[in-house]
Amino acid sequence: MTPSHHNPGKPIVLDFGEETITAFSISALSTYVMIPELNSVFDLGECPVAAVPLERVFISHAHGDHARCLLRHESLRRLLGMNPATYYIPAQSHEGFLELSRAWKTLERVNPNRFEYPHFHPMHEGDVVWLHRQLAAKAFRVNHTLPSLGYTLFDVRKKLKPEFHGRPGPELARLRKEGVSFEEELWLPRLTYIGDSTIETLYREQHIGQSRILIIELTFLMDDDRELARRRGHTHLLDLADFLRECPDVLQNRHIVLKHFSMRYDRRFIVHTVKSRLPKDFLERVHILI
Ligand SMILES: [Zn+2]
Ligand SMILES: [Zn+2]
Repeated sequence: MTPSHHNPGKPIVLDFGEETITAFSISALSTYVMIPELNSVFDLGECPVAAVPLERVFISHAHGDHARCLLRHESLRRLLGMNPATYYIPAQSHEGFLELSRAWKTLERVNPNRFEYPHFHPMHEGDVVWLHRQLAAKAFRVNHTLPSLGYTLFDVRKKLKPEFHGRPGPELARLRKEGVSFEEELWLPRLTYIGDSTIETLYREQHIGQSRILIIELTFLMDDDRELARRRGHTHLLDLADFLRECPDVLQNRHIVLKHFSMRYDRRFIVHTVKSRLPKDFLERVHILI
C-alpha cells in the first residue's frame, strides 16, 4: 500500500500567522508550495485546484517533479477565464519550456491563431522583480544537476532617513514637492524558497539565513547515501549537520521547513533520524514536511 505521506493530493498545512503554507514535497514524486497570502506558488510538480488562482509561479528548475504541471496551471486558468499568471523560470530553461508549450499545443491540436505561450519571465541570478509596490522577489543561484534558482521574497518598506527624523509633516510634504528624497527603502526578507540543492548553496548564499521563513530540501538521511546525494545534486542529513556545526550563526530564520525526503523512507524513520542528528536549538524552529 502507498504510504500516506506519498500522496501529492494530500498537502501539509503550516500556519505561520501571516502565511499559510500548503505544500507537498517528496523527492521524485512531486513538489509544490502554495502561499495564498503572497499570491504565489513555488514549483508545480502537481497542480492542485487551490493553486490555480495563484498568479505568481516560481519554478526552481525543470525537473518533472517540480515543473511538470506548469502547463496544466496555465490551461486551467485560461479555461476558467482568469488572466494569465506569470511563470518565473531559470533563463537557461526558457527555450525548453517554449518547446514544451509548442509540443503540447500540437498534441492538443490547438488552433494556431488562438495559441499563446504562457507568460514566462526568465530569471538570472541576482534579478529582482517587483510583485507589487511593497513586495519584491530576488533570484539567486542554486547548486543542482540542472540550472536552478532559489527565490527570496522581500517586504519593502519606506522609512525616513535619520537626518529627517522628527521633521513635521508639512515640511516633509514641501520637501517631497521639491523633489528631495528623505526616505530610504528597507528590504525585509520574508521567505526564501530553494527547490533541489546540494549543501554548497547554503555555504555561498548566506543571506538566506535572514529570511523569516526558509524552505530547503533534505533528501537523503542514511549514512551510506552521502555519495548518492552528492551525485544527484541533493542535500544529505550529515551535510546539513556539518553546515550547522561549521556555520552555527548563519540560519537565523524563525521557521525552517525541511522538505523533499526520499521515497525510500517511512514517516517514523524520517522524524526519528532528523531529530537524532540535528542540534536541539535548530530543531525548535524546524517543520518536517511529511
Ligand atoms: Zn526534486
Ligand atoms: Zn531536481
